Amino acid sequence: MDNTTALYIHIPFCVRKCLYCAFTSTDKVPGDTGGYVDLLLREMELRADALAVPLRAATLYMGGGTPSLLDPPLVGNIIDCAVRTFNLDLSAEVTLEANPGTVTAASLAGYRTAGVNRLSLGIQSFDDRMLASLGRIHTALEGREAFALARRAGFDNVGIDLIHGLPGQDCDHWREQLLAAVELRPNHISTYGLTVEEGTPFALLEAEGGLPLPDEDDAAAMFEDIADVLVAAGYEHYEIANFALPGSRSRHNQVYWKRGNYLGFGAGAHSFLREPRPGARWRNPDDIGEYGGSLASGVLPETDRISLSEKDAMAEWFFLGLRMLEGVEEEHFRAEFGVSPADVYGSQFQRLCASGLLIREGGRLRLSRRGVILSNRVFAAFL
Ligand code: SF4
Repeated sequence: MDNTTALYIHIPFCVRKCLYCAFTSTDKVPGDTGGYVDLLLREMELRADALAVPLRAATLYMGGGTPSLLDPPLVGNIIDCAVRTFNLDLSAEVTLEANPGTVTAASLAGYRTAGVNRLSLGIQSFDDRMLASLGRIHTALEGREAFALARRAGFDNVGIDLIHGLPGQDCDHWREQLLAAVELRPNHISTYGLTVEEGTPFALLEAEGGLPLPDEDDAAAMFEDIADVLVAAGYEHYEIANFALPGSRSRHNQVYWKRGNYLGFGAGAHSFLREPRPGARWRNPDDIGEYGGSLASGVLPETDRISLSEKDAMAEWFFLGLRMLEGVEEEHFRAEFGVSPADVYGSQFQRLCASGLLIREGGRLRLSRRGVILSNRVFAAFL
């Protein structure tokens, strides 16, 4: 039995809502974020007590929202609590997402001292015009400065996020962004295609015809450019949208793709436990008041618990595992589910291999280059 877990901590506060954002976050930031952190600590204690078998944390990821709105001592309190409740390893990967518009040399040094050893900077673009059109609070210069400050504060593991497919963006512009990213030499680069989410100001703009998004061909060409530029610059393309210098892959995110345990804390956070087999998922309420109210009465704030069927778990195993470019081992599937994957998905394998989306060799299955581009089509075959 796997008794390790990843821990995810959600900080649902932002200085201002970006125009495309559908994450659980509010711009109504309390004067004292310590009250929210107290709730997180309470939830971690309650969850640790409620587990039938104690779990040991191998990674901790503080995401948001904007975790870099927390003062460093509060971040230290979260890490200390993870050590106390989930025996967080001394060698654990501890990541904090930071918005370049919210960090200073002092806050970054404080996070490093508190025990954060990996920083994920939401740079998104190196173009002020694009950043403004997204409603981001930082400028391109602030993005570069935040990166330099992070290195100076002692972070030798810094990742950045970039978004492509922005309004008014063409392929040449996107290539320039990738080259600018490579010049900084971050350890990790995550690239996301802009999606217009329901209920966001971007959805409204799009409905009014005011969002000049790249057409499908350009969007596909931008996606293809990513691997060309980043791999040539020495980055390993290890997951559909993620690239890392050797030795810098995100340990935390690999837990998700390998269907490991993860426990989420905070408003809107998601959790998954493999035991009892074949596993269960649940989430916390998005509403901070509801989340806090539940904890105030000593009750874990979980909602929407789904116990997976064996069939769900098998499908998940494939569509999460295939996100990693090294692919999945058929023998691991057999060890996990007691059947050969070909007995369950033989016709899908045949079809996907014949159409050049999937490669099956040496007991492994992995996406082809075309399969990476059309990954949604591959994953749908397992549903
Ligand atoms: S900083 Fe991130 S979480 Fe906050 S509003 Fe912008 S996209 Fe959303």
